[in-house]
Parts: sequence; C-alpha cells; structure tokens
Amino acid sequence: MTVKQFQAESKRLLDLMVNSIYTHKEIFLRELISNASDAIDKIYYKALSDDSLNFNKENYYIKVVPDKPNRILKISDTGIGMTKDELEENLGVIAKSGSFAFKKENEIKDGFDIIGQFGVGFYSAFMVSDTVTVISRALGHDGAYKWESKGAEGYTIEPCEKDSVGTDIILKIKENTDDENYDEYLEEYRLKSIIKKYSDFIRYPIKMEVHETKDAESSEETREQIINSMIPIWKKNKSELTQEDYDNFYSEKHFGFDKPLKHIHISAEGTVSYKAILFIPEKMPFDFYTKEYEKGLELYSKGVLIMNKCAELLPDYFSFVKGMVDTEDLSLNISREILQQDKQLKLIAKNIKTKIKNELEDLLKNSREKYEEFFKSFGRQLKYGIYSDFGANKDVLQDLLLFYSSKEKKMVTLSEYVSRMPEEQKYIYYAAGDSIERIEKLPQAELVADKGYEILYFTDDVDEFAIRMLMTYKEKEFKSVSSGDLGIESEETKDSSSGDDAENQELFTEMTSILAGKVKAVRASKRLKNHPVCLSNEGDLTIEMEKVLNALPN
Ligand code: ADP
Ligand code: MG
Repeated sequence: MTVKQFQAESKRLLDLMVNSIYTHKEIFLRELISNASDAIDKIYYKALSDDSLNFNKENYYIKVVPDKPNRILKISDTGIGMTKDELEENLGVIAKSGSFAFKKENEIKDGFDIIGQFGVGFYSAFMVSDTVTVISRALGHDGAYKWESKGAEGYTIEPCEKDSVGTDIILKIKENTDDENYDEYLEEYRLKSIIKKYSDFIRYPIKMEVHETKDAESSEETREQIINSMIPIWKKNKSELTQEDYDNFYSEKHFGFDKPLKHIHISAEGTVSYKAILFIPEKMPFDFYTKEYEKGLELYSKGVLIMNKCAELLPDYFSFVKGMVDTEDLSLNISREILQQDKQLKLIAKNIKTKIKNELEDLLKNSREKYEEFFKSFGRQLKYGIYSDFGANKDVLQDLLLFYSSKEKKMVTLSEYVSRMPEEQKYIYYAAGDSIERIEKLPQAELVADKGYEILYFTDDVDEFAIRMLMTYKEKEFKSVSSGDLGIESEETKDSSSGDDAENQELFTEMTSILAGKVKAVRASKRLKNHPVCLSNEGDLTIEMEKVLNALPN
C-alpha cells in the first residue's frame, strides 16, 4: 500500500494548523462534532428532494466513545459518509471543504445550517492525536473505506468493512508531555463538559456511555446518555416558554446565582438576523465594580459556540447584562475563534443596545420597585456611562437615572423633577454630600428649600460628574445649592451685600488670616437662616467635586 503525500501547501498548512491556528486544543471535538452534524444535515437535505429516502430522526445521532486503556477516542456519526474519492478530496487536500461545495452544488441558502466552510476543522484532530483514522461508508454505497494519517507524512486509503452508512473518526490520543495534558480527552466528565460547552445546541443527539455508581453499595452502571440539549431555547417560540425555562437557562449557563430581574428574548430579522436571550440580573456580581469583571455575551454561529464573552456586543454602561446571541450572518476567521470583520456585529450590538434601553424604560415605567432594586445595583454604571463618554450617550441614559428627592423623600427621575418645577424656577437644583442625612443638614440648601424648590441629593461620587456631562435636561441647567449664584432673583437674598462686608471688614480680614489656606475669602451672606455659616464655591468645581478629585490616586 502506498502512502500518498498531502499536497505541498497542505503539508505546511497542516503544520500551521496543529501548532498555531487554534488557541484551545479542546476545540478539536467541536470541529469533529460539527462535521458529523453537517454530514447528517446532508442526508436530511437529500431526503427533502428524494422520495426514496426517508429521514427518520431517531436513526440519526453522533456518538462519542473514549477507550482509556487503549488511548482511543472515537466519534461516530450516521451521516452521509464519504466515498473513496471524497475521502481523497476532502481529507487529502487541506482547505478543501466538501461542505462548502455541497452548499454551492445544492444552492443551499439561508435557513440551512451546514457549519463547515473552510476545510480545515478536521485537521484540528492532529492537535491531540498521533494517528487519525477515518472509516466511512457513503450513502448508496455498499463498500467502505479507511483513510489513515499520522500527520504531515501523508495518508493511506484502503477498502474496509462497515455495517452501516456513516463515518467513524478514530483518534489515537497523544501521550502526556511535560506541559500538555492529553489524558483529559479520554475522561468521561471532561468530554461531557467540552460537548456541553461548544456543542450543546447541535440539533442531533450526541450520545455517550456514562458510568455511574449511585451510592457506595451499588455497583457501577452503564447508561447511554444524550449530552447535548439539542434545541436551543432561543430558537423556540416565546409562547412555548415559561418564566421557569428562562430562569433555568440563566442558572444552567452560570450567568449568576440570583434570579434574573428580567429577560429579553429577541428574534430579529431584517438588516441583521439574530436571536438572543438577554438577562438583567437582580444582584450585582461580587466582582462587578472591579477590574476582574469581564463584560460580554456568548456568541454562537449556527448553534455552535464561538466566543464565551464577546465584549463588542455590549456598551460598558450595560456591562451587567448577561446572555447570548446566535447569528448566521457573521464572517468568522478560519479557527472560528476570532471574528473576521465586525460590520454585522456592530449592527447587532446597536440593535441590542436599543432593546436593553427600551426594556429598562419599561421596567421603570411599569415595575418601579423592581427598577429601583436594579438601580441600587447598577445605577452607578449608568452614571459612569454618561460621564465616561462625555455625554455622548445621554439620549440612551438620562431617562434611566434616579436621584433621591428632598420633596418626595424617595428616588425620582429627572423627568419627574422637571414636570413639577414651578414656572419661575430656572434650574434643577442639587446638593452633593456623603449621605442623605448629611445633605439634609447642609446650610446651603436652606434657601432653595425655603423657596419650595425640590433638591436632588447626590450621594454617589460620580453623580455630579455625570450631571456636568449632561449639562442640561430638557433645556434646564443643573445648579448646585452651594454655588455662588443660585439664580433665585430677589434683592434681599442676593449673596454678599457689600454694605455688610464693609461694616465687618476688620473681622473678615482676621478670619481670613486665621483660616489661611483653607478659605479664599470670608463674606457676609443673606442666604443663611438657621445656620451661622456655610461654605460656598466659586468657579467650576463644587466643594464635593474637589473632594472626589483630591481623593483620587495620582
Ligand atoms: P469544513 O467542515 O469547514 O468543510 P473540515 O476540514 O472540517 O472542513 O472537513 C472537510 C470536509 O470533509 C468536509 O467539508 C466534509 O465534506 C468532509 N467531512 C469531514 N468529516 C466528515 C464526516 N464526519 N462525514 C462526512 N463528511 C465529512
Ligand atoms: Mg468542519
């Protein structure tokens, strides 16, 4: 039997493949299972147009069988199989995709999920195997063929026996090395978890023999188990699903230990087509406001996991959102680990942003209590959002903000505030401080409060900075109660009357020198009622902002 050489380019490619294209060795299983699923899809597709073929779903499955003592991992499918020629063509030439050709020949367009297209996935098997053997019997053929290769040296093809149509991929798993563990690819629990991770939503059952001992007394039992959940919840109709289904999905996916406050199920079609299930969590993850926290959504292409946390799908200010997106419109790079170009992704992200905003507004409008709960956890993130991009996203965010109100003694929106403003009130007043209790005692607030004007209490460091970025809300400017000019027009309350200052010139000079370095000037004020003295600022920064800035590490 002669050993056939891979084409020259293929040899180099194979080397590249094994050594550098994929970052995670475990994805070989994702690739082989995708191929098996494609092969079953092809029979299904043929059956649609060929009456002599009937596609009985029960007969189609993928099976993964580890044989630890012999270091063999077998992946079998009941798909369309390959003829001798097809084995040569598809596996003898790297970067030749039979699946891509099949799609072209059969003019398959949308809605049919054949995954393959690059013609390299199969070779990822060499990342974990010394020898790869493929035994395949094609649909409509009696004989079977065996293709075998140890990698770059080439491959052999010879006739062999196989009872039924389909393909067995047999991997001789490598021995462990100092820095690489291959044994894990023979472990049941590890294989199960890789299948769950990448191939959970493959449409055909992925079976494994699972060994279980119920308790200490009983002996080990073997049971065939279907590892994948097959039908992704996001492909189901909303009407088929219950709240419990969504909650279960949330915890199965380990999005959080809490129960989500709200889910968003999107099925978008049009300029971009995608499906998504997003969650607004109730509780803040413990690491949320730390550098360790990574935002992002799971990204699937045709039901296969591409990325665990695709950050591009979420703006920073919505980084608390959890969930997944599945789309067929992505251009992926060859390893399916990196996105090729992100025009589609940008469109999806934009779309998702709007949906999240609408849902939050809806929550605010219709379930105020829940919204306030949410805002306690993630309100700061929204305010950071306004601050960090210089107010560029104020349209998205300003109506989602809540502040404590002096009048209502509870959280209010800016729109609620403005709608209650008396006609002569020029500004939206706020007072900044460490806590509601301390702000209540601020002497500066008295005059404004006496006027009957509502004051928003800013207790978060970021509040005042965010508001500065907003500048105005519904054309009303924001004004700190500690600012020099409060804009309250009435002669008697105009701050610092020169007459009083002149009268007390000596006293004020003395006070200024005692407080040197702490205050710039001491002046008489008519703003005070029950307090003898207050601090007030000149210029752009308020006293509270200065405090925050001074506390920042240099
Ligand atoms: P891709 O899946 O991107 O086409 P692969 O390298 O994964 O590339 O596979 C190459 C080709 O080999 C496939 O397109 C398909 O024609 C064929 N093939 C691989 N695995 C199987 C299988 N289990 N059953 C039938 N054909 C297969
Ligand atoms: Mg493939």
